[in-house]
Amino acid sequence: MNILILGGTTEARVLAGALAGRADLTVTLSLAGRTAKPLPQGVPTRVGGFGGVDGLIEYLRAEKIGALVDATHPFAQIISENAARAAEACGVPFLALRRPAWAKMDGDQWIEAGSVASAVAALGQAPRRVFLALGRKEIAPFTAAPQHTYLVRSVDPIDPPLAVPHAIYLTARGPFSEADDRALLERHRIDVIVAKNSGGDASYGKIAAARAMRLPVVMLRRPSLSEAPSVETVDAVVAWLDHALTAAAVRGV
Ligand code: NAP
Repeated sequence: MNILILGGTTEARVLAGALAGRADLTVTLSLAGRTAKPLPQGVPTRVGGFGGVDGLIEYLRAEKIGALVDATHPFAQIISENAARAAEACGVPFLALRRPAWAKMDGDQWIEAGSVASAVAALGQAPRRVFLALGRKEIAPFTAAPQHTYLVRSVDPIDPPLAVPHAIYLTARGPFSEADDRALLERHRIDVIVAKNSGGDASYGKIAAARAMRLPVVMLRRPSLSEAPSVETVDAVVAWLDHALTAAAVRGV
């Protein structure tokens, strides 16, 4: 059976690793192409958008995909919606791998925001030292608040830089530990963090460090996605695929 994994996350890579080498599956992992040098994924990859939902439908048909797994980031709303719609249109079994959101814990000082614009507003008027833990695509609205000093960490360099007078750029790839993130926050005298509620372990270090340091976190809520069958772990995806294989064998597909 041909399997397509929509990736760009640690979980997608782990899933691909778990399926690589299986004689009963031909696995392809799809990346959007956002990072210049993606990590090896353990299975053959294809890179770049499909051309919307119609392009994805065409791809599923042309490649005779027997099961589609959406293992993209919880904030990758467009591709997730397209995946669910394309799978339904083609009658391809579909499952989303969704890591649970982080839950607020005792000691967390979260200011929840529904959009990047509200996160900018939540920083207030007085100049602050802000750790912007957002993607390259999301940070432009912070130019509306040039009074703050921004520390921006990204996998690839931010180009062009943010049009604000005080910004520091770091390139690094996670996972990041709590100890390393705490040292970073202390070194740059950060007094507030802006983050997405991504869930998972790889980027939780800054959230745990903020709790320990009693720093506020402006936390972007996840976008709401249409209902789709979903699981929370890689093992559950593997079990679902095994079930789909058995069902296909019974149907004689
Ligand atoms: P998005 O807004 O939902 O998608 C925008 C467009 O990018 C889609 O319409 C699709 O183009 C293309 N695309 C997205 N993911 C793709 C994939 N895995 N394979 C092929 N094409 C893909 O997505 P995004 O937020 O820009 O995220 C892009 C990628 O980065 C995803 O793979 C995601 O898992 C990863 N990522 C995102 C975040 C985040 O915070 N958003 C964080 C970490 C990693 P077409 O319409 O042309 O098919």
